[in-house]
Formats: sequence, C-alpha cells, structure tokens
Amino acid sequence: MLKNKVAVITGASRGIGKAISFAMAEAGADVAILYNGNVVKAEEACKEAITYGVRAAAYQCNVADFNSCQNVCNLIINDFGGIDILVNNAGITKDKLLMQMSEEDFDSVIDTNLKGTFNMIRNTCKHFIKKRSGRIINISSVSGMMGNPGQANYAASKAGIIGLTKTVAKEFGARNITCNAIAPGFIETDMTGALPIEMLESAKAQIPMKRLGNSKDIASLAVFLASDMASYITGEVIKVDGGLYI
Ligand code: NAP
Repeated sequence: MLKNKVAVITGASRGIGKAISFAMAEAGADVAILYNGNVVKAEEACKEAITYGVRAAAYQCNVADFNSCQNVCNLIINDFGGIDILVNNAGITKDKLLMQMSEEDFDSVIDTNLKGTFNMIRNTCKHFIKKRSGRIINISSVSGMMGNPGQANYAASKAGIIGLTKTVAKEFGARNITCNAIAPGFIETDMTGALPIEMLESAKAQIPMKRLGNSKDIASLAVFLASDMASYITGEVIKVDGGLYI
C-alpha cells in the first residue's frame, strides 16, 4: 500500500510512534525513526522495521529545536532520496493543576508538542511543495478537544495542533499535500503507564468500550491516512478513543 514511499515518524523509539513505524513498514514504506534520548530503543525499533523488507534508519532529533529538525530533515532527504509522509507524534506531558503549574512546565510541553509539530512541517513543506505531494499526520489528543483538569499545558498544545492542522490543510491543499490529525483517547503506552491506577480505572469507567486502546489502533489509521485511499481527506481530526468523547 505504501511501497516506494518514505515515512518520517517523530518520537518513534517507543509507544504509538514505534507502532506507527512498524505499521508503515508493514505497508511497504521505508521508515526514518526519530528519537530524542532513547538511542537503544530507536535502534531496536529500526532492526524490527527492517524485518518487513524495507529500509529503516534511526535519527536523533529534539523536535523542540528548530535547527535539529532542519538538520535531520535534510539528512533524511539526502539518505532516502525524499520524504513522502511526515508523522508528528513526539509528545510529552507535565501534568499539574494550573495553580501549581510552573512556567517551565507550560513552555516545555508547548515547545515539544506544538512547536515541534510546526518545526517539522516548516522543514519539510518546501520539499513537499516541490514534489507536489505529501502527507502530514499530526498526533493530537482528545484532551485538546475536551480540556482535562491537570493538563492545561498539554490540552493547549494539542488544541493548537488542531488549528495548525486545519491551516496547513488550507495553505497546502492546492499542492496535493494533505494534513490531518489523529486524536487518541487513552492508549496503553509509557505515557499512560505513568498515571495513577485510580485515574486509569476512572477513565475506563467513562469510556463506552470500557478499555484502553492499543498503539496499533492509532497506527492503522495513520497508514490509512498516508495511503491513496485517503487522498481526498484533509483538515480532519479523527478521534480514536473507544467513544470517550462522544
Ligand atoms: P511515549 O510512550 O511517552 O513516547 C513518547 C515519544 O516521544 C518517545 O519516542 C520520545 O523519545 C519522544 N519524545 C519526547 N520528547 C521529545 C522531543 N523533545 N523530541 C523528539 N522526540 C521526543 O508517548 P506515547 O503515549 O506513545 O504518545 C505518542 C503521542 O501520542 C504523543 O504526542 C502523545 O501526546 C499522543 N497521545 C498519547 C495518548 C496516550 O494515551 N498514550 C493519548 C493521546 C495522545 P525518546 O524515547 O527518545 O525520549
């Protein structure tokens, strides 16, 4: 489905990003696996992606740093001969009630989640425009649609991603570049593993499907959005949340 395509996935050393890399590789795409600090896990992910018969390479990239994104995008274009699919998945949480949230807690989450998404789009868009094709998939969150106590920074960053997604869709639609967002609910990863058990139990109680989602649930949608089947879908925000936000 994605044969001869090159996919770049940020935050792909673990969790949802890793699952997206494997699903893209399984669909035939070569994958650039971007990580921030976890080189060992990123290299392991590469080895597993290669078992699908595609090319895979790991690149260190702090998405919050514009120059880091610029360097890595240029490097990937050089190494792989181009980029067809960009998945902005890297993200962090620093949860606290607003009354206790420091300026640093706010800024670092916005810098990684929102500015990081801008940094990667800004450093690939010229390439996509030149090719007159490109698929951009941004990982938002239902937190950005609903708001969530303790997540002022995170919800703001994820809501910002939705505004960014719709704007990019409008600015680049005429160049055959689509931009969509996926808004996961609670997905089983290290991120949710860090939450108190009582919070997870109360989340499950509110989810109509009564369970957390799996990274593969997000990955399969990312592959669909990157494929020819989704060539006329742009500016959408698609929830994958077991019905949490109906
Ligand atoms: P995770 O398991 O905590 O993994 C986070 C990934 O982001 C890691 O690969 C990490 O790289 C990378 N990362 C963190 N800071 C970075 C930076 N400054 N630059 C580049 N990469 C960075 O998270 P996850 O649960 O898979 O979440 C993935 C995405 O889905 C995030 O955007 C998250 O907000 C979103 N999401 C998750 C859930 C959920 O329930 N899990 C729900 C809604 C939305 P290293 O390992 O190298 O540090």
